[in-house]
Amino acid sequence: MPETSDIAAGRLSPARIAENFADAHPPLTPHEAVVEASRCYFCYDAPCIEACPTGIDIPSFIKKIATGNLRGSALKIFEQNIFGGSCARVCPTEELCESACVRMAEEERPVRIGALQRRATDWLMEHDPAPFKRAPATDRRIAVVGAGPAGLACAHRLALHGHSVTVFEARPKPGGLNEYGIAAYKLADDFAQREVEFILSIGGISIEYGKRLGRDFDVASLRRAYDAVFLAIGQEGARALGLEGETLAGVRDAVDFIAELRQAADKTVVPIGRRVVVIGGGNTAIDAATQSRRLGAEDVTIVYRRGVSEMSATKDEQDWAQTNGVRIRHWATPHRLLGQDGHVVGAEFMRTEPDQTGRAVPTGASPWIATCARQYPACMPGVTVSRA
Ligand SMILES: Cc1cc2nc3c(=O)[nH]c(=O)nc-3n(C[C@H](O)[C@H](O)[C@H](O)COP(=O)(O)OP(=O)(O)OC[C@H]3O[C@@H](n4cnc5c(N)ncnc54)[C@H](O)[C@@H]3O)c2cc1C
Ligand code: SF4
Repeated sequence: MPETSDIAAGRLSPARIAENFADAHPPLTPHEAVVEASRCYFCYDAPCIEACPTGIDIPSFIKKIATGNLRGSALKIFEQNIFGGSCARVCPTEELCESACVRMAEEERPVRIGALQRRATDWLMEHDPAPFKRAPATDRRIAVVGAGPAGLACAHRLALHGHSVTVFEARPKPGGLNEYGIAAYKLADDFAQREVEFILSIGGISIEYGKRLGRDFDVASLRRAYDAVFLAIGQEGARALGLEGETLAGVRDAVDFIAELRQAADKTVVPIGRRVVVIGGGNTAIDAATQSRRLGAEDVTIVYRRGVSEMSATKDEQDWAQTNGVRIRHWATPHRLLGQDGHVVGAEFMRTEPDQTGRAVPTGASPWIATCARQYPACMPGVTVSRA
């Protein structure tokens, strides 16, 4: 890194960092939850259930909250989705169940299903950390590869039926992207690990860490040793840009940056550029950009090759980033990354426009250089470019 580099840790005070990475959406109070639950019409053929990818019986769990039966409410959720606690925090409910809520059509204010789900699941996790009992043990042994949400949900259901499960996990901790990927302020207070403990409390599940499929064992050996094998290894790896300058110091992929931030017990030691450019249009780009701002980066820009409506990040996520001071520029694609002394100092973008099929194609118009923000007289080192 050149001496003039402006990538540094500790841009904000520890108190400010703690505030920035605390729970982004604090829970409903008991009174608020009852009032909110009473807004539900408990619809027959409820459209919110249809819109829930995990098919939770939403009116039923809400009715139980309205009548003070938080245990029954939480069990209704967990029986359908054992990750109901983290889904209550991270699921894009505004695009799913809440967008289908009949209250939305009537008054543009849906029942706050996600917040209510959190109220019930948090209550049970606090008051009964081991609510599920296994069926009598069978002699079946199942191998699960990957201790992310998919692998652990599968392991829990198998254990519930009395089977014995061994989970093989490449990383040193369980939780998958809940632990290494989701923005820190969405799953604050070590929620990902608390949730894994809750899931494992059923018994009958053992996890072997540091065991990677393809390196330490293969599927054939698992099939010989177990009655069944479930592969839940997620989607590893970020796309490369394939551009000149991509190996310069200061250029990194957003998933790695987010993982480093999530694993840092003290976030004041995580370095960040004074100016950050994030390339991409999904939730990973939003999380990388917003967390960069919250770490103290002064100038953060997301650049996406197509328009607002083509971004895969939800509208709420885009608003959240902008509320945090992130600028989003559309219709521009990276052309090359500029370096000085081996370190990135800028990113050159070409303007794009949609062709007849809607694909973004460069217009050939004069390139736009990302780091020469107006308030700085020249491009200076100290830029972090994240690929999302
Ligand atoms: C940055 C980011 C932000 C996200 N934000 C949200 C959000 O806000 N809301 C939302 O709903 N979803 C979000 N998602 C998506 C969500 O995290 C995933 O859908 C979910 O984690 C998928 O679960 P999984 O178990 O299939 O995979 P993963 O969570 O990826 O888990 C896979 C597990 O398998 C392990 N593994 C991989 N390869 C091997 C191997 N060869 N051998 C052994 N173990 C292996 C991994 O270490 C990991 O523990 C986000 C994803 C990312 C990347
Ligand atoms: S659609 Fe809305 S009002 Fe109807 S059951 Fe679902 S949450 Fe309740």
